Amino acid sequence: DLVLRLKGIEKTYNRGEAGEVQVLRGADLELGRGEVVALVAPSGAGKSTLLHIAGLLDTPTAGSVEISGEAMQGRSDRKRTATRRSEVGFVYQFHHLLPEFTALENVVLPQLANGVGRGAAQARSLDLLDSVGVKDRAEHRPGALSGGEQQRVAFCRAMANAPKLLLADEPTGNLDPETSDRVFAALMALVRETGLSALIATHNLELAARMDRCVHLEAGLLREG
Ligand code: ADP
Ligand code: ADP
Repeated sequence: DLVLRLKGIEKTYNRGEAGEVQVLRGADLELGRGEVVALVAPSGAGKSTLLHIAGLLDTPTAGSVEISGEAMQGRSDRKRTATRRSEVGFVYQFHHLLPEFTALENVVLPQLANGVGRGAAQARSLDLLDSVGVKDRAEHRPGALSGGEQQRVAFCRAMANAPKLLLADEPTGNLDPETSDRVFAALMALVRETGLSALIATHNLELAARMDRCVHLEAGLLREG
């Protein structure tokens, strides 16, 4: 029962006069339901490229992506977008919350875009915010929140449409070590509670050790370790 399957993923970027650069050279990955996997890579190794391909934001030069058993190659942009919206949640190093909206609205909006009614969306959002300890900040805008609080709201936004797959790119990378630890614990509790599968890129080997498995991205390939 795989939530994500990457097979032979290659990615070559064309940089015009600077020529081509092959970032991924046949990366394979299988992510089972409820599995939480650390993606460890030096910067520039192709971590973001891999996450974008896994999350259907980018297409590989070669290889196949399956989400919940469904092959994505050759699918229309529309189909890929629909799959991304319903199956995948993203968290970034910098939260990317909408500054003009409250924490609550930031979690409500993706649900409205997905056809959920306002009442149900608000109730779910408050539950999510509560589960990571920021419900009392619901009416504040991101600028009034601490970095750790902003990142917790960003997790809630990623979870808003109950995705099956969470993709996170250094989700606690801009926080101080102590806050990073607390925010990471909140993320893990939320992921475990919902039975979500997650691929979480991190430089932090201590955090990586707390996940189910670790994969290393090196020379364009993924290896278990
Ligand atoms: P990481 O997230 O591990 O730091 P990235 O996936 O962002 O790595 O980038 C991997 C390599 O691919 C880098 O050398 C980067 O400069 C290059 N790269 C990323 N995106 C593009 C792009 N759109 N066009 C050209 N080169 C790119
Ligand atoms: P929506 O489903 O609300 O229209 P999108 O499909 O544009 O949103 O994007 C879904 C998620 O992917 C959002 O979290 C958004 O921030 C992120 N995203 C969209 N485009 C990119 C991109 N080029 N690079 C990185 N993240 C992106």
